[in-house]
Amino acid sequence: MAIARLNFLVVEDHDFQRKMLVRILHGIGANAIYEAKDGVGALAILQEPGKPVDIIISDLDMPGMDGMAFVRNLGESGVRVSIILASALDRNLLASIQTMAEAYGINLLGVLEKPLTPDKLLPIIARHSILASQLPHRTSPVFTLEEILAGLRDGEFEPYYQPKIEMATRRVSGAESLARWNHRQYGLVAPCDFIPTLELQGKIGTLTETMVEKTAAFRRTWAAHGIDGSVSINLSIRSLVDVRTADHVIELVRAHHVEPRDVVVEVTESALTTDVGHTLENLARLRMKGFGLSIDDYGTGYSSMQQLIRIAFTELKIDQSFVANASRQESARVILEASLGMARKLNICSVAEGVETQADWDMLRQLDCHTVQGYLIARPMPSEEYLDWVKDWNRSI
Ligand code: C2E
Ligand code: CA
Ligand code: CA
Repeated sequence: MAIARLNFLVVEDHDFQRKMLVRILHGIGANAIYEAKDGVGALAILQEPGKPVDIIISDLDMPGMDGMAFVRNLGESGVRVSIILASALDRNLLASIQTMAEAYGINLLGVLEKPLTPDKLLPIIARHSILASQLPHRTSPVFTLEEILAGLRDGEFEPYYQPKIEMATRRVSGAESLARWNHRQYGLVAPCDFIPTLELQGKIGTLTETMVEKTAAFRRTWAAHGIDGSVSINLSIRSLVDVRTADHVIELVRAHHVEPRDVVVEVTESALTTDVGHTLENLARLRMKGFGLSIDDYGTGYSSMQQLIRIAFTELKIDQSFVANASRQESARVILEASLGMARKLNICSVAEGVETQADWDMLRQLDCHTVQGYLIARPMPSEEYLDWVKDWNRSI
């Protein structure tokens, strides 16, 4: 592995420890190493043009912006880097911080106990190249709002569909609609490259409109193929701040003669809920009209969910980080079990996301999870493929 070609950023408040780490990195072949004393300094470096960073090695306990706040800010900034967290804290705490970082969508290579040594660092750094090779579209640039809106206007966005399977019967219970951008130059662009920009600039409604419209039109065609089940649409919590959103969604679905009971609206809990009243009004209205309501990424969220939970949610979607970690991390398994238990007690459907292996499937089956979704079953696919896929799957069960 060419460590010499990687750019590092060391974030550590303790001068001596920072110098030591820089020395270790030089010792194992690194050339480009930036340094910061805390999260604020690190974010400033990341925003500087001409200073590309591949791997951040950050302390957790720092004055000012500590490692956890830094990880959250990184996640929200959408900057694509890998991170290694270092701390003298106990192992249990490190495990929960690992889960937290993954929940923030951070490319976390590992959490290391201090002191850091070349032996500890090398295998973790090696993970970067493995992960980097798996990441799609790494070469696509950061798109401006104007480019994204032009793509939406030109009809370049389309929903992909990922099937959901009911564990007990193995039947396809429906599909989740996920946004994709068919970019003329860069090929298929994933949501992480356009959703944050749309959300931050108040334009997520434009994507919602396209997605609801196309998804409803597609759902309308299922019956003719002998396919039933629900279709799930992702609604950004930011679009729920506008009280008209629910009516708009209801109208679009009705225009395609799709029954609201065949549509599930997935909402991610979020700290950014500024207008709880409007959000609740939208969700209540959707529910009243018969839409399913799903709490997405369950387990990763914030206290605002305590208010949202007053709404009659019909589905609890457990975040994939808990599924992925349950086999190796006691705390993740506990949360997974508790979430499934809670769904059962509330008498709502539990869906586990990110089911990638047979072992995940077996574990979830044992824990009496209702529905699963993940690469083990199928990746998200275009609408035409989805219809054939469901027919094939149904023939095989
Ligand atoms: P999400 O709603 O949690 O969707 C699940 C994500 O996990 C999807 O990523 C899906 O492709 C991916 N996934 C599915 N199975 C597996 C698996 O087995 N392993 C792994 N590692 N990943 C799996 P995708 O399509 O990139 O979407 C990312 C996020 O973007 C979504 O997360 C959702 O929050 C958001 N999003 C997607 N489409 C829309 C949309 O139309 N509107 C809004 N507001 N948000 C959307
Ligand atoms: Ca979702
Ligand atoms: Ca999710």
